[in-house]
Amino acid sequence: MATTPILPRLTTRAARAGGEPDPTTGAVTPPIVQSTTFRQPGIGRDLGFTYSRADNPTVAALERCLGALEAAPPAVAFASGLAAETALFLAACEQGDHVVVSDVVYGGTVRLLRDVLSRAGIAATFVDATDLAATAAAIGPRTRLLFVETPANPTLKLCDVQALADVARRRGVPLAVDNTFLTAAVQRPLDLGADVSLYSTTKLVEGHNGAIGGAIVARDPALLARLRWLRKSTGAIQSPHDAWLTLRGARTLPLRAAQQGRNAQAVAEWLQSRREFAAVHYPGLPDFPQRELARRQHGDLHGTVVACELRGGLPAAVAFAENLRLCLLAESLGSVETLVTHPATMTHGDVPKAARERLGIVDGLVRLSVGLEDPQDLFDDLDRALRAGEVGRG
Ligand code: PLP
Repeated sequence: MATTPILPRLTTRAARAGGEPDPTTGAVTPPIVQSTTFRQPGIGRDLGFTYSRADNPTVAALERCLGALEAAPPAVAFASGLAAETALFLAACEQGDHVVVSDVVYGGTVRLLRDVLSRAGIAATFVDATDLAATAAAIGPRTRLLFVETPANPTLKLCDVQALADVARRRGVPLAVDNTFLTAAVQRPLDLGADVSLYSTTKLVEGHNGAIGGAIVARDPALLARLRWLRKSTGAIQSPHDAWLTLRGARTLPLRAAQQGRNAQAVAEWLQSRREFAAVHYPGLPDFPQRELARRQHGDLHGTVVACELRGGLPAAVAFAENLRLCLLAESLGSVETLVTHPATMTHGDVPKAARERLGIVDGLVRLSVGLEDPQDLFDDLDRALRAGEVGRG
């Protein structure tokens, strides 16, 4: 199997890692290997691949690239972010075990733990992971994993990965970070002391709303082997075609993360200048409550997602979201198109209202994932939607 040459800088790794020219044809772009099975030269001997539910050359090319972005061995790619999460929880826990999870996480993560894994005897405690003492106290004798999302979906609350890695190490549990929002182009959890960096590659990594996928990056060979075994056993591998699209997206990831981060900053500042909003949440804003941590953990780039709270509550949020034209009302984030989501009814619709409100996911909250459009065109669309909402209410 081809090996990845030494590619020291991030943009070079993104552009090249995992994509060595095909040794038989010289093809510069890795071929999409659709074959489900692979001829073996003899019993117990193979050429690196046996059956595409276990492993596949196109998936392996993506895995080399995603691993290289974090100076780690090849990642393990999954059919979705939630498939990656499921494998991680199953790798860490047996029946009777327990995980500690940050309180503001993707709604699907809550549903997976609360409604699926709980039935297999895996319990979860949700904590405010900004409170290190409370987080340490939640870790008990059967806790097998600390899992956090930062920035968190959709309020942008941050977790201090370095501090949590210390807590986890002292209590003898691994730390996993859902790095979907920022990706390795901005934040590298393993370098901050975490054991696992987890992705929904469906978002910024693939970046074009073209393929569902997930990935886990880690440096512990035993964990990587266990994840591969679980992936084979549960049938959770990504398809070769989706892996190829994801690798295609990863090639430009640092460029998109930089430009979309700048566009998101511009949109956050624009929203903050408008009286219609009671609050705007974005880690790049000067009044963001965890500004110092944001600077330390992500430098000058803070991702594509901006959350804003309309003073008019639910009706104003609905009118605003529905009157946008260039920004598209759709779930997901990180792609080249600017998407608008109403978390209370869409991504977090399954989280009970009282729990949602306690976490700041109020009915007036609207989440924007800023794309690659010219910011002025976005301002024009946002302005028009706010005015149309006013007319509608008047
Ligand atoms: N993690 C985060 C932060 C997400 O936003 C999502 C999806 O929105 C997921 C995980 C799940 O990923 P997928 O939709 O690829 O299963």
